[in-house]
Amino acid sequence: MAIVRVSGADIPQLAVALLGAVPAPRFATFTRWRDAAGELIDTGLVLYFPAPHSFTGEHVLELHGHGGAVVVESLIERIVQLGARRARPGEFTERAFLNDKIDLAQAEAIADLIDAGSRAAAQAAMRSLQGEFSQQVNAARGALTSLRVYVEAAIDFPEEEIDFLGSQELRERLDFVQQKIDAVLEAAQRGARLTRGLTVVIAGRPNAGKSTLLNRLVGHDAAIVTPVAGTTRDLLREQVEIGGVPMEIIDTAGLREATDDAIEGEGMRRARGALARADHILYVVDAAADPGAISLAEEQATLPIGVALTLVMNKSDLAEQGADAARPAAPADMHRIAISAATGAGVDALRTRLAAAAGHAGAAGGTFSARTRHVDALVRAQQQLSAARAQLAAKQGELAAFELRGAQASLGEVLGDVTSDELLGRIFSSFCIGK
Ligand code: GDP
Repeated sequence: MAIVRVSGADIPQLAVALLGAVPAPRFATFTRWRDAAGELIDTGLVLYFPAPHSFTGEHVLELHGHGGAVVVESLIERIVQLGARRARPGEFTERAFLNDKIDLAQAEAIADLIDAGSRAAAQAAMRSLQGEFSQQVNAARGALTSLRVYVEAAIDFPEEEIDFLGSQELRERLDFVQQKIDAVLEAAQRGARLTRGLTVVIAGRPNAGKSTLLNRLVGHDAAIVTPVAGTTRDLLREQVEIGGVPMEIIDTAGLREATDDAIEGEGMRRARGALARADHILYVVDAAADPGAISLAEEQATLPIGVALTLVMNKSDLAEQGADAARPAAPADMHRIAISAATGAGVDALRTRLAAAAGHAGAAGGTFSARTRHVDALVRAQQQLSAARAQLAAKQGELAAFELRGAQASLGEVLGDVTSDELLGRIFSSFCIGK
C-alpha cells in the first residue's frame, strides 16, 4: 500500500476535481482516481480530515492506493497538475507546528521517533511527542513568570524595592524556579544521551586488554588482538545496543608516555581527542600486572574532567585472589569492576553499569527524548537564573529582571515560541519526505 497525503486550504476543490466530490469527513470511502485524459490511475480508499481536526491543522486528504513506484508517481503527478506541489521533507510536521497543533520539542520528537535506534529511544521519543518534556519546560516557565511578575512589580514600586528584592519570599521563589530548571535539564541530558546514544571510549595502557574488551562488548572480532603492545593505532568504532540504548564503543591506541613511532604517537593524539568527546570512559587496567591501578593514577591528570569513568580491572582470571583487596591507588568512590575480557566474567555487570550510565536502567519509564539544542537552551536558562540571583543579591533589580527575561526566552526556545526561520529550516529539513 502507499499513502499519498495532501494538506492545504484548497483540498475541497482538489477533491472535487480528482474524486468528483468532497468525501465525508473521517470515513473511509472507496474511490477511483483518473488522470487528465480520464484514464484510471488507481483505485483505493480516501480519508478526509477537514481543518482544524487534522495533523497539520489544515484540510488533509489521504489517498490509500496500491504501492509501487509508477502508480504512486502517476497519482502524485495528477495531484500536482490539479494545483498541489510536492511537500518538502518534514513540511507536514512544520505546518502542524506553525498551526499550533504541536510545539517544537514535540515536532522534533516525531523525527526522533522515526530515527530511534532502540526501543528505549523510541519510547522516550513517544513520551516527548505526548508532551511530557514540554509540560516540564512549561512548568518551569510558569514558575519563572510568577517570579518575574514579583521582580518587575518590585522595580515599579521603587520605594519598596529594597525590601522586596532582599525578601525571603523572593529567594524561595528563585529556589523553586531553579529546582524546576535543574530537574528538566537533568532529564533532558539523559534524554539527549538516549536519543543520540552514548559514546563510550576504552582507554588504558597498551596490552591492558582494551581490544579484547571491545570485541567482547560488540560480540565479534572487530579489533585485532595480539600480545604485541601498540597493535591498535587508529580509533576503532563499533555500534552496539546495550540495555536498549545505542552505544558507540571506541577502542583507542594504548596511552603511554613517549613513543618514537610516529604512527603510534598520532594514535595516542586521536585517543585523547576521542576521550575529550566521550560520554563515558572505560579505563582498562591489567589487574595481574598492575593490581593497584597505578597506571590510572598516573594518567588521571590527562583525562578530561567531568566525564564519567569506570575503572575496569581486567584479566581477573590471572590476577591473584585478594590482590584487589589491597585497595588501589584510585579514589575509593570510583566505579570499579573486575572482569576478564578473555573469559567474559564480569562483562555483564559492566554492561549494566553502562546502561545505568546512559540513564536508562536508573530511570526506566521516565525518560523522554531530547536534543543537544534543548540541553543548550536549558543550560543557558540555568546560567541566566544564576546571574539574576547574583544581581538580586546586589540589589540590582533592573539587571535581575533583564536576566530573568533572558531565562524565559531560553525556555521558550525549547518549545519554539520564538524561532528563526533558519533554525526551523534546519530542524525540518532533517525529516523524511511525507512527514
Ligand atoms: P590492548 O593493547 O589493550 O588492546 O590489549 P589486547 O586486547 O590486544 O590484549 C593484550 C593481550 O592480553 C592479548 O594477548 C590478550 O589475549 C590478553 N588478554 C586480554 N584480556 C585478557 C584477560 O581478561 N585475561 C587474560 N588472561 N588475557 C587477556
